[in-house]
Amino acid sequence: MVKAIRIHQTGGPEVLRYEDVDLPAPGPGEAQIRQHAVGVNFIDVYYRTGLYPTPTPFTPGNEGAGEVLAVGPGVEGFKPGDRVAYAGTLGAYAQARNIDAKFLAHLPAEISYETGAAMMLKGLTAEYLLFRSYKVQSGDAILVHAAAGGVGLILCQWAKKLGAFVIGTVGSADKAKLAREAGADATILYRDEDFSARVREITGGQLCHAVYDGVGKDTFPGSLDCLRPFGTFVSFGNASGPVPPFNLGLLSPKALFVTRPSLFAFIADAARLREMAARLFEAVASGAVKIPVHATRPLAEAAEVHRALEGRATTGATVMIP
Ligand code: NDP
Repeated sequence: MVKAIRIHQTGGPEVLRYEDVDLPAPGPGEAQIRQHAVGVNFIDVYYRTGLYPTPTPFTPGNEGAGEVLAVGPGVEGFKPGDRVAYAGTLGAYAQARNIDAKFLAHLPAEISYETGAAMMLKGLTAEYLLFRSYKVQSGDAILVHAAAGGVGLILCQWAKKLGAFVIGTVGSADKAKLAREAGADATILYRDEDFSARVREITGGQLCHAVYDGVGKDTFPGSLDCLRPFGTFVSFGNASGPVPPFNLGLLSPKALFVTRPSLFAFIADAARLREMAARLFEAVASGAVKIPVHATRPLAEAAEVHRALEGRATTGATVMIP
C-alpha cells in the first residue's frame, strides 16, 4: 500500500482525497518509481473539474521525479536506483507509482528531484512552444500571458535567451516584478489595463510575431489584436476557461496562423521526447533557464495547493512532497 491522492468524483478541490492505494508489481514495459517530488500543473485542475474527462476513480498529476525501485519485463535503459523524471501520464500524486517507461528521462545528477518534478511538464512545454509551435527568432516580439506562472516564467527566461523582445501579462505588481526579473522587457497588468492597446503602444504599433496564450477565454480575441500580419497565435491552455468557437474569418485580415498544441502530441514520439528533454536539461544545467520552484507542500495538502493555483495566488511552480 502507498499513500496517494484519489478522485472518485470530479469537482472542486475537496474531491482530492488522501488515501491508501494498492501498488502492484510493475507490468511489462513499466517501471516502479518512488517519487521524491511531484509537480503541480494547471492541467491537474482540468482533470479534477472534469474539463478533461477521464474515468473515475483516478490518481491525478502528470509530472514527477524519483528513483526507480523495480522494472517490469521488457524495460530497457532503466534499472533500480536510477534517478528519473517524467511528464505526461496521469497518476503522479502518489508516494510511488508504476509508469510506462517510455515517459521516463534520466535526471542528471546536478538537477534536484524538486527541480526535476517542476521542470518536466512545464519545461518541455516551453521547449515545444518556443522551438516547434512557433520558432522564436532573435529580434522577434512575443507576448506571454500569465508570465509569472509556472510555464510563464520559463518562457520569459528562455525566449529572452533566444533574443526575443518579451512582453508579459500578469495579475499583480508583484507578479510583474517576477516576470521582469525573469527577462520580460515589459509587463502589462491585464486585469487593469487593455492589454492589446498596451501591446500596440509598447511595440510602437509593430505588434507581435507570436502570442503564447495559456489563459484562454478571457484573453480571446484580444490576443489576435496583438499580432502583426502573418503572426502566430499559440493557444495552449484554458486557465480562465476554453476559447469559445470562433469564425475563421477573424484570421483573414492579417492572414494569421493559429495552433492549439498539447505536450502529449509532441512527446508521443519517443525520439522527439528525448530530443526535447536533452535541450531542456542543457538549458537548465547551463543556468540559462532557472526552474522557478516557489512553493513546496506536502502531498496530503493537495486540495489547498489547488485552491491557491486556481485562486491565482501562486507564482512559478509548486511541487508536493509525498
Ligand atoms: P500557472 O502557474 O500559469 O497558473 C495559471 C495562471 O493563469 C494564474 O496564476 C493566473 O496568473 C493566470 N490566470 C488568468 N486567468 C485566470 C483565471 N480565471 N483563473 C486562474 N488563473 C488565471 O499554470 P501552469 O504554468 O501550470 O500552466 C499555464 C497554462 O499553460 C495553463 O493554461 C495550462 O493549462 C497550460 N499548459 C498547457 C500545456 C499544453 O501542452 N497545452 C502544457 C502545460 C501547461 P495571473 O494572476 O498573472 O493572471
